[in-house]
Amino acid sequence: MKTLKIAIQKSGRLNEKSVELLKNCGLSFENYKSSLISTVSNFPLEILFLRDDDIPEYVQDGIADIGLVGENVIAETNVEVAYLQRLGFGKCTLKIAVPNDSDYKTILDLDGKAIATSYPVILQKFLDKENIKADVKTISGSVEIAPGLGLADAIFDIVSTGGTLRSNNLMPFVDVMSSEAILIGRKGEENNPLILELLQRIQSVMRAKETKYVVLNVEKINLDKILALLPGVKSPSVLPLAEKGWVAVHTVIPERDFWSHINELKAAGAQGIVVMPIEKIIL
Ligand code: ATP
Ligand code: ZN
Repeated sequence: MKTLKIAIQKSGRLNEKSVELLKNCGLSFENYKSSLISTVSNFPLEILFLRDDDIPEYVQDGIADIGLVGENVIAETNVEVAYLQRLGFGKCTLKIAVPNDSDYKTILDLDGKAIATSYPVILQKFLDKENIKADVKTISGSVEIAPGLGLADAIFDIVSTGGTLRSNNLMPFVDVMSSEAILIGRKGEENNPLILELLQRIQSVMRAKETKYVVLNVEKINLDKILALLPGVKSPSVLPLAEKGWVAVHTVIPERDFWSHINELKAAGAQGIVVMPIEKIIL
């Protein structure tokens, strides 16, 4: 079978998590900062390291079979690709922000104003949908200084903590889009067996990340109370301990369910609770 090609970001906010995800899928490859391409030794896969902006088009045009990129970049490049899997990292929000001392009340107040952005396609779509006629000024970086320089009345940019906005006397005004990293593929190629195998590995890594292996000890008389508090992937294993009348309960549960039940588990008599990470969960 032919070798699959995956495009990931060469350097930047998605690079490290993308490499980590592929490594956690059991793929072995060298990750030299200088190389543009890396061959996986234990799976028919080549990794292309690219600027994130180029990834959607490379996938659409078939230079790469699949790609890992922010949803915002896909939306901005206007390409037709298949969404294979949301990946849960690289989360951010694209917002319109306005100067602190402005008196805009509703988004309609943006009518006739100039908005600076590096994401003109997403912004224009939003303005069209809301029936707002604003002047979209495309600039490639440091969008947040545009109002201070008198270049624009507002900006549209990625905002995470809001620190950059605050230090430029801007405040969030409208949330336009939330984004996370996505695995994309070419339309019509979704059933390629290599893609499906890689997808299965990615999903098992993601499931494992959210889930913990929990072991605890409990006196048999309290066992039913404990089991009622542990909604597992399957029913828990119950093993006898050397000490008479005591058992160990082993289970696999979503971490958030575990934390919300920890005090109840203790009150129900659970002791020696051990929580362990899981590498993969194959269903
Ligand atoms: P490249 O050199 O590959 O073009 P870039 O400078 O365009 O990189 P980065 O800043 O590395 O891009 O961001 C990559 C992606 O990470 C963004 O497109 C977005 O999807 C996501 N992201 C998550 N949080 C943030 C954030 N706080 N600021 C910017 N991007 C973020
Ligand atoms: Zn980029």
